[in-house]
Amino acid sequence: MAEHALLSASGADRWINCPPSARLEEAMDDETSEYAREGSFAHSLAETYLAYHLGQIKKSEYNKRLKKLKQDPFYSQELDDYVRVYTDFAIEKINEARARTADAVVLLEMKLDYSEWVPGGFGTGDLVLVSDDVLEVIDMKFGRGIAVSAIDNSQMQLYSLGALNQFGCLYNINTVRMTIVQPRLDSISTAEMTVDDLLYWATNTVMGAAEKAYKGEGEFLPGDHCRFCRVRATCRARAEENTKLACYDFREPPLLTDEEIVEVLDAADEYMRWISDVQGYALDQAINNGKQWPGYKLVEGRSIRKYVDETKVAEALQAAGYSEDQIFERVLLGITKMEKAVGKKQFNEVLSGLVEKPPGKVKLAPESDKRPAVRNAAEIDFKEEI
Ligand code: SF4
Repeated sequence: MAEHALLSASGADRWINCPPSARLEEAMDDETSEYAREGSFAHSLAETYLAYHLGQIKKSEYNKRLKKLKQDPFYSQELDDYVRVYTDFAIEKINEARARTADAVVLLEMKLDYSEWVPGGFGTGDLVLVSDDVLEVIDMKFGRGIAVSAIDNSQMQLYSLGALNQFGCLYNINTVRMTIVQPRLDSISTAEMTVDDLLYWATNTVMGAAEKAYKGEGEFLPGDHCRFCRVRATCRARAEENTKLACYDFREPPLLTDEEIVEVLDAADEYMRWISDVQGYALDQAINNGKQWPGYKLVEGRSIRKYVDETKVAEALQAAGYSEDQIFERVLLGITKMEKAVGKKQFNEVLSGLVEKPPGKVKLAPESDKRPAVRNAAEIDFKEEI
């Protein structure tokens, strides 16, 4: 099992903003989701491709590893294609670093130690490139969730500190470049910082928070960083923040003002996430730990009928005189399944011009949302007509 630092780089957004979260989370079981396991698998595949490309492993070792990886239940042509998007990008960056400095240092899956600023702090960098003037840290994220920006990204900045600490002395480095590649979201985000700015951030933002976090001290501060906190369902500070809306003092007039509606909209997403986290936690405890919640019981939800054995159903119907045409329908695979079956490259080549993306359903989003605004109903109608 992978080793984790108490003050991990991936959780830095949390312990920097809410220092006491680190010790609270420590007491909870690690949540290793199916997605996280798939991500680890994708990283192993990427490492194998890059290690072979770099001549770090021989052909026989490469073939042996690849054969094993291809037998893994997580392996699919689609996953392989996405991993190749990352490795192609990584090779391009390796070539650029070598063009800058012939003997640039290339490190794969490197343990990066940033404990000079954070007690016991370390993480693993997918790809680190050390060349004259520039230190580059590249991270692959394999999820299908949200596109993550490399700008002001604490995780990437901590990795960079670790890399700088360990390898910065090899060359005269002034710039740190950080890139997050998310092949499944078609997203590549890059940020650059001077070494001076990075060290200023480490000294003035990170060190104080890390010290408090390590000791389990400091103020609780709920925010977006609660989303992956292990105590997100039971944290009192988060509950108090969210119940503020329920306690909102809605005064006269009898109908809400525009400002009040906007206040509800501002709080709504986080409020619904919090409710869903609490419900999920309560259900999990009841099912898996036999927890009895006063006034609640476990019941069976609505279910739908299903065939016990599809082959036997078909045989029974054919024996009763029904033809194949009557009992079977041919259905084209859906887009996701088709992409998985034929691979992304083939899918794009063979089905070019045959896949469209209709406009999505209009919804309200905050001004900060990256998508362009759809101005009004007339514009929506016009778009739908053309
Ligand atoms: S849920 Fe949010 S406020 Fe509570 S400990 Fe975790 S990060 Fe801090």
